[in-house]
Amino acid sequence: MMATVLQSTAPPKRTRNTVQRRAVLCAVRALGDSHPAAADVFAHLRETAPGLSLATVYRALDALVSQKEIGRDFVANIARYDVSATPHHHTVCRVCGSVSDLNAPLPAATVRRLQNAANGFQLDLDAVQFSGVCATCRAAI
Ligand SMILES: [Zn+2]
Ligand SMILES: [Zn+2]
Repeated sequence: MMATVLQSTAPPKRTRNTVQRRAVLCAVRALGDSHPAAADVFAHLRETAPGLSLATVYRALDALVSQKEIGRDFVANIARYDVSATPHHHTVCRVCGSVSDLNAPLPAATVRRLQNAANGFQLDLDAVQFSGVCATCRAAI
């Protein structure tokens, strides 16, 4: 006599989380170097993977940051997600708010000088945000 095995059709929670995380990671990568905010990732996913809630997207982004799959920077107190988890500098346009990578390490002497002058404030000198005006906005002025 065969025993009847009852199986749930819902995938285990762990698998579902993995699938959701993969979708969110794809969205961050698809948005490229625009350094999207969670709302931008969510808007992109509404087209590519509808059905994910904003809370799920936030949870997946948090998990991806802890796993160092993506980076997170705060620009004007808003979390922006980064395809690279390695600390690097950014330019932030004060006209349109666009965020771009700036790949040029600070010279060691500059790092020492700035840190010494900071009165005990620990500077994040591997990930500095430079404010200015982007090329697109400069062309429009
Ligand atoms: Zn701009
Ligand atoms: Zn970046």
